[in-house]
Amino acid sequence: MGDLSELFAPGRVAVVGATEREGSVGRAIVENLIEDFDGEVVPVNPKYDEVFGLPAVADVGETDADLAIVVVPPHIAVDAVRQAGEAGIQNVVVITAGFGETGSEGAAREQELTEVAEEYDLNLVGPNSLGIMSTPKGMNATFGPENATSGNMSFMSQSGAFITAVLDWANDEGIGFKDVVSLGNKAVLDESDFIDAWGTDEQTDVVIGYLEGIEEGREFIDTAREVTQDTPIVLVKSGRTDAGAQAASSHTGTIAGSDQAYEAGLEQAGVIRAESVQELFDSAQMLANQPLPDSKEIAIITNAGGPGVMSTDAVGDSSLSMASFSDETLEEFSEKLPEEGNIYNPVDIVGDADNDRFRDALDVALADENVGMALVLTCPTAVLNYEQLAKDTVELRQEHDKPVAACFMGGERVKPAAEILQESGIPNYFDPSRAVFALDALSDFKDISRREYDEPTEFDVDEERAREILESVKGRDDTRLGVEAMGLLDAYGIETPQGDIIDSPADALEVAEDIDGNVVMKIVSPDILHKSDIGGVKVGVEDEDVYDAYEDLITRARNYQPDANIIGVQVQEMVDLDNGVETIVGMNRDPQFGPLLMFGLGGIFVEVMEDTTFRVAPVAENEAHTMTEEIDSAPLLRGARGRDPVDVDEVTETIQRLSQLVTDFPAILELDINPLVALPDGAKAVDVRLTVDPDEL
Ligand code: ADP
Ligand code: MG
Repeated sequence: MGDLSELFAPGRVAVVGATEREGSVGRAIVENLIEDFDGEVVPVNPKYDEVFGLPAVADVGETDADLAIVVVPPHIAVDAVRQAGEAGIQNVVVITAGFGETGSEGAAREQELTEVAEEYDLNLVGPNSLGIMSTPKGMNATFGPENATSGNMSFMSQSGAFITAVLDWANDEGIGFKDVVSLGNKAVLDESDFIDAWGTDEQTDVVIGYLEGIEEGREFIDTAREVTQDTPIVLVKSGRTDAGAQAASSHTGTIAGSDQAYEAGLEQAGVIRAESVQELFDSAQMLANQPLPDSKEIAIITNAGGPGVMSTDAVGDSSLSMASFSDETLEEFSEKLPEEGNIYNPVDIVGDADNDRFRDALDVALADENVGMALVLTCPTAVLNYEQLAKDTVELRQEHDKPVAACFMGGERVKPAAEILQESGIPNYFDPSRAVFALDALSDFKDISRREYDEPTEFDVDEERAREILESVKGRDDTRLGVEAMGLLDAYGIETPQGDIIDSPADALEVAEDIDGNVVMKIVSPDILHKSDIGGVKVGVEDEDVYDAYEDLITRARNYQPDANIIGVQVQEMVDLDNGVETIVGMNRDPQFGPLLMFGLGGIFVEVMEDTTFRVAPVAENEAHTMTEEIDSAPLLRGARGRDPVDVDEVTETIQRLSQLVTDFPAILELDINPLVALPDGAKAVDVRLTVDPDEL
């Protein structure tokens, strides 16, 4: 997408559908625009000579505008956009509703709108948008009741109503914005375009957003990764719960919902995810105004014991840690604080603390090299002047150049102090846990901005062989594959146990005799997805029992489903489970983010345990490695209770190889390797199951 600077800073704006008619959107837009706009407004309406004293023209083509705001009814809106395009107007905001959000006729209209925008290469916002604002130009091209005050955050929202509510509240709180965009239906410009534009905008220090969905997952990740090297992005993504889980036949498909994809995608993108509007603004304000901390060590200075404990708990829940003070600091605290106080963190300066004691304590704490940031936590007392404390806090924050959050608890009494703090970029939070969350976000962003994104490793693989195996489903009704597709893993260098699929007891014995020790025998049938559920897996079979085991497996399969398509029986080398850990490596395709990789504790109880983690493929080595560290059972891999650690590097490599396989073949819709047995020396894929879309081959 092109440069969006003119969208936010046009010299001349045309309002197509401008009118003075009471209660109309066309009127609200013109009124809002003429209020502060540092530029020209041209009403477009063939019915009038002028609107609010401004000379009107009949056609947007006559305006020579840089930006056209379209508010005409839906049946003529697309034409208006086309005329704007023909006249060389590059930027268009379509306020008009009645497009994709309204059914098939609207969807067709939206399609037409997209085509027109493409033809003229337009920067088009909407349709079904509340409009846009940009405070440096004093431009309010929305029909909302509130204008934004100026600030250094840029805000996008998929809900227009939410924007009006946020602005109403933000204006009260003294929170300002640079640009505000109501995304509407995102027919052309979507969240990635704005992230991209704001990433290079000098006046935007933080990008915040409320999203209901993300259009192009991979593009979003790539764009956000780049932007978050300098500019923090904080997003609320609504719709966390899964509406109607899709019909999946793999474990991964059953466990992976859209929220797992968003969770993974946002994390890989370097986006800080807020769970609520409160978290969104709590963290964004901190990010917009404060320096990044040198460390995760926090000092808490308080005149109240209870809130001190609450904040310590909050630190425990965050990635921050309580700073341990240097000897000099402790000495100074002992000199300056009363005996009944606490010189260790959280520093309790006691309820009778006056302003001087508070100031001294904060000064000493911030001067300590072991302290990366501080929280000033206080309850009102008769000896403490809140406004003075606010001024001291502001001064010391600047002097030490370390981030400071304030938690001056109280109501009316706090307001003047909170204003002093807010003006200097120190948000005041009523609840200590909110303050800790915001500081944590600041520290998170520091880590994000330093991340290095490696390229995925390219392994040497046999793509042709993999393709042949996948093509075996062509012309079949059932496009699922089981262990008969083990060769697919082999083609991508994923180690599988020695073995073969045969269809007679005599052949079974031959294979078994070739394998050292006992064997495992499994029924092979696309109709039997979970083999052990029907007793279709026999572990530890001795050579002399191979005949019986073969017959028994076939009988079980027939009993389970008389017309089951039985390919045969797999005879497989035993893998040493006593010294290994059963893990699962899988993939499910997400509509927005594409291939979503899963890693977790495997075996037959995967869904019961649900100890899993997700990433959007392709992944680089460090990302794959992080997956092996992230699951709750990670200590098992490292060798718990005297067991040998397993070969995590090999597991990491398997995840990467699977990542390459599913990236190379969009035809693989879902896939499980379950279990991938992680051994002290290596890892073996013992079982595989996948679903293929032959049309994608
Ligand atoms: P399914 O998942 O269809 O029930 P699997 O092939 O995954 O079938 O086998 C089920 C379980 O049997 C595995 O989780 C594992 O515990 C055990 N198992 C399967 N194959 C082997 C093997 N080659 N060596 C050791 N144990 C095995
Ligand atoms: Mg299995």
